[in-house]
Amino acid sequence: MRRLLVLGATGSIGRSTLDVAARHADKLIVHTLTAFRDADALFELCKRHRPVRAVLVDEAAASRLREAIEAEGLACEVLAGAQALVDVADDADCDLVMSAIVGAAGLLPTLAAVRRGKQVLIANKEPLVMAGALLMREAAASGACILPIDSEHNAIFQCLPPAYRCGDAPKGVRRLLLTASGGPFREWTREQIAAATPQQAVKHPNWSMGQKISVDSATLMNKGLELIEASVLYQMRDEQLDVVVHPESVIHSLVEYVDGSMLAQLGQPDMRVPIAHALAWPERWESGVGGLDLASLARFRFEPPDLERFPCLGLARAALRAGGNAPNLLNAANEVAVEAYLCGRIDFYNLSSMIEACLEAGMRFHAQAAADLESILAIDTWARRWCSDRLAAA
Ligand code: NDP
Repeated sequence: MRRLLVLGATGSIGRSTLDVAARHADKLIVHTLTAFRDADALFELCKRHRPVRAVLVDEAAASRLREAIEAEGLACEVLAGAQALVDVADDADCDLVMSAIVGAAGLLPTLAAVRRGKQVLIANKEPLVMAGALLMREAAASGACILPIDSEHNAIFQCLPPAYRCGDAPKGVRRLLLTASGGPFREWTREQIAAATPQQAVKHPNWSMGQKISVDSATLMNKGLELIEASVLYQMRDEQLDVVVHPESVIHSLVEYVDGSMLAQLGQPDMRVPIAHALAWPERWESGVGGLDLASLARFRFEPPDLERFPCLGLARAALRAGGNAPNLLNAANEVAVEAYLCGRIDFYNLSSMIEACLEAGMRFHAQAAADLESILAIDTWARRWCSDRLAAA
């Protein structure tokens, strides 16, 4: 029996993980669940999955959860605070960790799990963007096994030889091709996109996801973050990574080998597929998702991404090329900009202009990638403050 910790259990990935885990109770124990402040949702998950421990970052929410758990008579310890996330990720009790917090907040617990040498399933892409070299270095030192959950990176992993491990450069590969749905504004004009509301931006045509990644999908920053994520996981250079828009979201990505062969992974756009793959790895388990009826799909479309209407993808590519701390700056600026957009403080194209300006202003940080955690966090803090000041001055 393996013991599972789900970081970000109340989120879209967290719930899909628990859905798959519940189908395999003979092989997996749901040991610890964490969330930020949604005590009601975490309580419902505790009733259903009976974890040994639950963590909420927000102290008041944790007190409410503790009372509800006692009233229900559940045997579940409730912990509170951001340090508790790191402690449970570091704890030897769990050997399998789903990293599904949204944003940079997931870095410290993910790093703790990696340093402990666990099997770490990474959905939370932002830590890989801001501190990819550090995470991969620590994984190599501890022997942690990193398995990608992002559907594109999971697809690539599935198309690589069985002996392949993340953090190594795969042999005989010419290029990785990430597919993108194109998001909700794929067919909109630039003028229409400029006036897009947050409600329109979070309505993804193919995937059901949390708010932040939904906005990232609308701007195509999600694909940009994924380019950087792919460069970290697969040790590929910028020129070996490409993006193609594939509106059906059925082909989840492709690996092109030096002999001209292209291998792809196909499946329904349902995150339980990559989650089941990584939970079961190296075996295969039922995910609850059916196969594809190819005849009824009839046709796959492919088109190049439009960088004029979606400048965030170009900014991410530029940050990948610049290397050093540019991806960290990009990620922090994007997180602040997405939050401001969701609150109605800025409009759609202010997102990219703010990120671009932050990358410019932080030029002095680009050159050499910060090697240690403290420097990485200091750059992240600098970029967030720079963006907040710009917002306050607007
Ligand atoms: P959601 O917004 O649905 O869920 C986020 C989870 O993180 C919730 O459990 C939330 O708790 C918790 N959380 C939020 N802020 C903090 C914090 N500061 N500290 C601790 N926990 C926090 O996100 P998704 O599930 O959509 O995405 C999670 C990650 O997976 C993201 O990095 C995303 O890019 C990635 N991903 C998601 C995909 C998807 O299909 N959704 C696909 C591929 C990757 P609470 O509910 O209490 O706020």
